[in-house]
Amino acid sequence: MDINKLVRENIRRLKPYSSARSEFRGEASVYLDANENPMNAPYNRYPDPLQWELKAKIAELKSVRSSQIMLGVGSDEPIDLVIRIFCEPRQDNIVAIEPTYGMYRVCADINCVEYREALLNPDYTLDAGRLLAATDEHTKVIFLCSPNNPTGNLLERGAVREVAERFGGIVVIDEAYVDFSSEPSWLTEFYHYPNLIVFQTFSKAWGLASVRCGMAFAAEEIIGYFNKVKYPYNLNLLTQQFVSEQLDHAPRMQEWVAYLLARRTALAAELSALPQVQKVYPSDANFLLVKVPDAGALYDKLVSRGVIVRNRSNISLCAGCLRITVGTEAENAALIRALR
Ligand SMILES: *Cc1c(COP(=O)(O)O)cnc(C)c1O
Repeated sequence: MDINKLVRENIRRLKPYSSARSEFRGEASVYLDANENPMNAPYNRYPDPLQWELKAKIAELKSVRSSQIMLGVGSDEPIDLVIRIFCEPRQDNIVAIEPTYGMYRVCADINCVEYREALLNPDYTLDAGRLLAATDEHTKVIFLCSPNNPTGNLLERGAVREVAERFGGIVVIDEAYVDFSSEPSWLTEFYHYPNLIVFQTFSKAWGLASVRCGMAFAAEEIIGYFNKVKYPYNLNLLTQQFVSEQLDHAPRMQEWVAYLLARRTALAAELSALPQVQKVYPSDANFLLVKVPDAGALYDKLVSRGVIVRNRSNISLCAGCLRITVGTEAENAALIRALR
């Protein structure tokens, strides 16, 4: 597969902005190349545009090479970049599973790229044939999300593999919730699929949603295009340093995950025992999708008791469903009390 052929012509030809920090990448004693203020160190200096120190740590943690990583302002940035790199506005399209995370559609709409949906099965499993049938010669990117938001389930490996093998374009697997799931990341199989891009984020398991840092993993060739198109200094110094520091606390993150998984099991059992709950869907994420007879009314009642969940009842295949994030033991107990 020739990735270059999938890239928009203007992006393939793009001569990227060349910053002072990218033209000189070494150690020196006097920096007079970037019109920076010599006072107020270290904040006076432009940050590393390619975040090599932070990437070295992530590379070690994830067993990939630094050159296979792109860091963005949340996952939102690489979602937008994938569309802008590969999809010609008003000509190309993307295909995503339905229901799924809303940002893929928003980014496609902003970029004037047609968004096509392929329904999951009623039990939220992936039908690879149906998904591939929604593609045509103008489909450049398929978006998969596993574990999927808002349904909570992992997509079966065999079906995802079939999509990655049979589709001649880019396949994105958004793994925002992978740390909560029972299966390994697609990063472990990443070398077999030159067209695969895996997204992960610091926003969920790492507890850093406010910091805005997301990761895209792909073949070097694809990462090269990300680096060409992204804003040169997309991650500021404070973010780079802070995330790097947080990476030293991986064991603490694992403890949080273990705690939340135990809370998830307990919450699912308590919810299932309530008379107004019709179904609690199995979850591989840090939330539960819960079916009730009147989601709108129940949502309003919970709000009036100070408990906010997400009403997903207007979403395909999610009629009557609330999406409930797993909280602390006390927060979950407050939810159950309010429901009672
Ligand atoms: C929460 C979430 C993200 C995280 O987005 P960030 O921009 O990294 O905060 C990404 N994908 C999905 C499916 C999510 O639910």
